[in-house]
Amino acid sequence: ATPLAVASGLRDALERGIVVANAALFESVSSVETIVFDKTGTLTAGEMTVREVHGEADAIDLAAAVERRSEHPAAAAIVAHAVEGPESDRITADGGHLDHASGDVRSTGEDVLDVTDFERHPGEGVSATVAGARAGDTDDPRDADRVVVGTPTLVERLAGPVPDALESAVADARDRGRLPVVIGYGGAARAVAVVGDRTRSEWRSVLESFADREVVVLTGDDAAATTTVREHPAVDRVFAGVPPDGKVETVRRLSREGVTAMVGDGTNDAPALAAADVGIALGSGTARATDAADAVVTASDLRAVRSVFDLAEGTRRRIR
Ligand code: ADP
Ligand code: MG
Repeated sequence: ATPLAVASGLRDALERGIVVANAALFESVSSVETIVFDKTGTLTAGEMTVREVHGEADAIDLAAAVERRSEHPAAAAIVAHAVEGPESDRITADGGHLDHASGDVRSTGEDVLDVTDFERHPGEGVSATVAGARAGDTDDPRDADRVVVGTPTLVERLAGPVPDALESAVADARDRGRLPVVIGYGGAARAVAVVGDRTRSEWRSVLESFADREVVVLTGDDAAATTTVREHPAVDRVFAGVPPDGKVETVRRLSREGVTAMVGDGTNDAPALAAADVGIALGSGTARATDAADAVVTASDLRAVRSVFDLAEGTRRRIR
């Protein structure tokens, strides 16, 4: 009856939008002691929007030209903002509203800027050379056409200093649990796009359902941006500000302490999913994540992660 039990487990899983890539999952899941959730794109819907922009108006179009080549949720928000215009207010550092730049980028959604040498800086942001980005008011020896988009640290390192007004926009965004995306070129940081993400409505109930296990949240976000999650009683531990290779390291370390499952989105988390004893990928994801995971949850609903555990338990009982 064993193959039959597994076959029916696989079928039940499929009906719930769960593709089980490794049938050993039905056994291994029951011994999971620690379950690690990635934050962005997993506990949150990963559908970010730009809430405000502080600083120079042109910066968003330049940033969008670079972010078009990135698959980070923050990148999609910046591109959408440049194409569709503001969702709510676009506020400058002095409190006024930004003019809509007359960029063709916005009207067509296509690349009209000359972008070369795109580079990813994992866990920090992206950069590229955009012809004409130079602000013309600097003697900074750094490549003035280089547009850098991401964390304040990255922009400071590759573009130039962050002025006080933008520095306080960064601090303010973090205080409100939002993600400040800094845009720099021409020798300095020029703007901050404040990006907000929506947590999935079901995240609390799903985490609460794992009360008998250790629940860990792992995120590349800064500590301040994770307050809501950190303060929830169902969350036992939070690792914040963890770079992509640090995620793998953390999962390995937890896995030495006890059997560890990792739940992550397809895009960035493939190595961490592979490093875990049980990897569950959320969302249709990329081929890489699908290869790395023991199960792929295609339904855009965290409750399917709970179903993986329930189905495995049911199947295991039938195998015995
Ligand atoms: P997470 O999945 O938890 O957001 P990441 O490693 O993907 O972790 O990103 C860590 C941080 O690096 C983000 O919070 C953001 O500040 C910055 N970052 C990464 N990629 C980008 C990007 N394409 N555009 C802007 N910021 C980025
Ligand atoms: Mg992520």
